[in-house]
Amino acid sequence: MSDGMERQQAPLARHGRMLMRGGCHCGLLRLAFATSLPAAALAPRACDCSFCRRHGAAWLSDPDGRLDITVAGRNALLSYRQGSEAAEFRLCARCGVLVAATFTDADRLYAAVNAGCLDEAAILPPAVRVSPQSLGRERKIARWRELWIPDVELRLPT
Ligand SMILES: [Zn+2]
Repeated sequence: MSDGMERQQAPLARHGRMLMRGGCHCGLLRLAFATSLPAAALAPRACDCSFCRRHGAAWLSDPDGRLDITVAGRNALLSYRQGSEAAEFRLCARCGVLVAATFTDADRLYAAVNAGCLDEAAILPPAVRVSPQSLGRERKIARWRELWIPDVELRLPT
């Protein structure tokens, strides 16, 4: 039921979750991150590994959230592994922007979003520094299972 007066600035997904949209620079990769956490609870984590530092990446996730990554072109999605090689960094093959990191565990895809790729980046709290590279591979994976988005769909072009 719409009276034509609905407000547009607070996008709510199903279950009353906030839907944050974003993507790479050129638009080949699109993101939709659904979270029920308030923005104040979504401090991006600036990872100090040599790869994330070079991209200025700061990661956002919600263990009850959902992420859709839509890939608009064939071969548009680049994947890169480094360090412990447990996670895959996901980048746009055209504009080079790093949009997400993913890891697969028991057929489940987990992800964290690069906060700067979200349209709502400006409303997020300042990033906090983290140093997951100081953790061993097993502890890193345990941490991702706790923190990362466990409901991820990677939509590749058909
Ligand atoms: Zn792009």
